[in-house]
Amino acid sequence: MFTLPELPYAYTALAPYIDEATMHVHHDKHHATYVKNLNDVLAGQDALLVLPVETLLADLSRVPEAIRTKVKNNAGGHANHSLFWEVMAPHAGGVPTGAILTAINATFGSFQKFQEQFSTVALNHFGSGWAWLVSDHGKLAITDTANQDSPLSDGKTPILTIDVWEHAYYLKYQNMRVEYIKAWWNVVNWVEVEKWFATFVS
Ligand code: MN
Repeated sequence: MFTLPELPYAYTALAPYIDEATMHVHHDKHHATYVKNLNDVLAGQDALLVLPVETLLADLSRVPEAIRTKVKNNAGGHANHSLFWEVMAPHAGGVPTGAILTAINATFGSFQKFQEQFSTVALNHFGSGWAWLVSDHGKLAITDTANQDSPLSDGKTPILTIDVWEHAYYLKYQNMRVEYIKAWWNVVNWVEVEKWFATFVS
């Protein structure tokens, strides 16, 4: 069985950048529904129900073909949101330090260039989906995925992500995805991102 993780902070904690109403509907309704649908579609598949959701996404071929798309969508919805909550925090943002900053500078030229490139990918993603900083076989890269697809299914390891589905920002920012992305940088939890980086890249 998969379970909905609690937010690692209060629903109000990311305001004014992400408002309380958005956090409630996003976590309690959208994320909760992916978890419920994943459990429902895997009912009776005991060997799959005990796998970490990341393992499931990394090798979807072990899922029976008749339910594979549904599993991909809902497992992705669960894993993507779980990471999204973790890589945000109140009193965060700014510029990272340490090994991840060194790697970002080496890969993208500077932190500012990384931020611009990531924001552009997030802004230009057509329709619902996610922008990502990933480890692609040990090398940092920026990418995007449609709907609830996970980079794990392409053999890449997520380090940082932003949800650009309209449900992530429409209540506060309406159609202004660009304003949401700009605000979101203020809640990026670089301490947590550094941990993911240390685990999977360095
Ligand atoms: Mn979402």
